[in-house]
Amino acid sequence: MVTKKQKETLREVLVKELSDIEERNRKSVHEMEDVMSNQRLEGDEADQSALIEQRNYALRLRDRDRKMINKLQASLRKFEDGSYGICDSCGLEISHDRLKTRPVASLCIECKLEQEQREERDKSIRRR
Ligand SMILES: [Zn+2]
Repeated sequence: MVTKKQKETLREVLVKELSDIEERNRKSVHEMEDVMSNQRLEGDEADQSALIEQRNYALRLRDRDRKMINKLQASLRKFEDGSYGICDSCGLEISHDRLKTRPVASLCIECKLEQEQREERDKSIRRR
């Protein structure tokens, strides 16, 4: 059973994480713009490929962050409709221990393990 107080703490963690990611993204976009504008002035080919690599890295990072942002926002929305901490799959409460280590969890540990096993099975079928 997750208490109201525990839920409130989890919500604060989610809000904090969301703002951290957004802050980090704002910074990395600025850094990239700086690199790009310097590069245009004095870039040779080697610099160009390093630049492309750097940009790809930043884009990958942002892609991962975007997914995380989506998860965080989805979790925060659940606070509004009261479904936070309820397993999407079986409808039972997710344990506080699990939410503490993974506040964006939308499945209880049993359903999560089941899902992972299913994915493993699918992967090994595809490999054959
Ligand atoms: Zn479940």
